[in-house]
Amino acid sequence: MKIMKFGGTSVGKPERMHQVAELITRDNEATIVVLSALSGTTNALVSIGDAMAKGDKEGAKKQIEKLEAHYKSFILDLLKEEKYRAKANAIIAEHFEFLQIILKISFNEALNKDILAQGELMSTKLFSVYLEEKGIDHLFLPALEFMSIDQNEEPQLPLIRSRLKNILQQHPDKKLFITQGYICRNARGEIDNLKRGGSDYTASLVAAAVNASVCEIWTDIDGMHNNDPRVVSKTVAIEQLSFDEAAELAYFGAKILHPTCIWPAQLEKVPVKLLNTMQPDAAGTVIMQEAGSVGAKAIAAKDGIIAINIKSSRMLLAYGFLRKIFEVFEKYRTPIDMITTSEVAVSVTIDTDAFLPEIIRELEPFGSIGIDKDQTIVSIVGNDISQTPEMLSRLFDSLKSVPVRMVSFGGSKHNVSLLISSDDKKKTLQLLNSGLFGL
Ligand code: ASP
Ligand code: MG
Repeated sequence: MKIMKFGGTSVGKPERMHQVAELITRDNEATIVVLSALSGTTNALVSIGDAMAKGDKEGAKKQIEKLEAHYKSFILDLLKEEKYRAKANAIIAEHFEFLQIILKISFNEALNKDILAQGELMSTKLFSVYLEEKGIDHLFLPALEFMSIDQNEEPQLPLIRSRLKNILQQHPDKKLFITQGYICRNARGEIDNLKRGGSDYTASLVAAAVNASVCEIWTDIDGMHNNDPRVVSKTVAIEQLSFDEAAELAYFGAKILHPTCIWPAQLEKVPVKLLNTMQPDAAGTVIMQEAGSVGAKAIAAKDGIIAINIKSSRMLLAYGFLRKIFEVFEKYRTPIDMITTSEVAVSVTIDTDAFLPEIIRELEPFGSIGIDKDQTIVSIVGNDISQTPEMLSRLFDSLKSVPVRMVSFGGSKHNVSLLISSDDKKKTLQLLNSGLFGL
């Protein structure tokens, strides 16, 4: 059994939905298809919820009507026969009726989650009607019957597994299943979700739950690239990555894959493939247990970083100093990304200034504090990169003209991170691209 997940743009136009139907019927393997909402829908639903939270019912109503018009014209192009158009229109009407009703009742967070769930419910139902029109046998699998999160909003994988197994066992004759990404039930049994972009997470959880042969994530990019294509002129898709490498990259903002989506697949060793609906036969990127090769594979950057330096001669030979510093960050629930120490000073980075004044005030008793804003973490990721001969010399050779503020090396075998001024980001990514990849 395999999983195929299609994101918002892959189902966002009727002709793209037609193409998805072709892609999922290319081979005979049993398949669970996970769909996002049509592109733009979740954003629209968020904004409808925001308007209602502010008591702006007129504004919400206008947006609901606009969205409904979009779905009506979508149906006209998606389906040919009057019978199926009528069926699809009736389904959509029900969802928009629901949105109209909530305009009349008092708004709360649980209701907001209901609103957000409408996108995936509608996209999967419309797709199911399209498959019906095409005569493609399938089973509609409501995610709300098996996807759940606990009180800490963590997915309940063992429960998801047993519920799914149960449902699938009741339909041994079916080979194709259609379900919603993103939505789930919470510990109170209410409709909830796996946070924005969470359909990838659904796909990975379902893949782990059924021990799938592969979890395919279909987007409109040809896999994960070795560098940021928006910043650097020449980048290439990475053929193979280990789960550990992918986790390092996802954290540093490689947008193609939701960061949380790696652990379930990794747990059950299900390979994750990143594929492109525009070029369905291209190899894409596969993320699996084995890294495939040793050495630098990708460069990722994270902007908006603040570096804090604490310098104190009292740190010399002292113990407990770092703990006291960390406690300040803990108190203000601010995660530290990078850290470097010397015998008399320590530098850390954070990616939010929400509590910066409070943090500085509480750190001041420990020594003199220096702050550098507008910094960027550049992370070089690759299997056993820290053990690769000449890795560091090649790295620093290529960065002769860039002042490096911090270096973090050896924390993970698969990562070397540098802190630079954001002004030098473009130059740094370009120099590393040629220095490490010859591009
Ligand atoms: N539709 C949801 C979102 O836009 C989930 C997803 O697409 O992954 O965030
Ligand atoms: Mg997405």
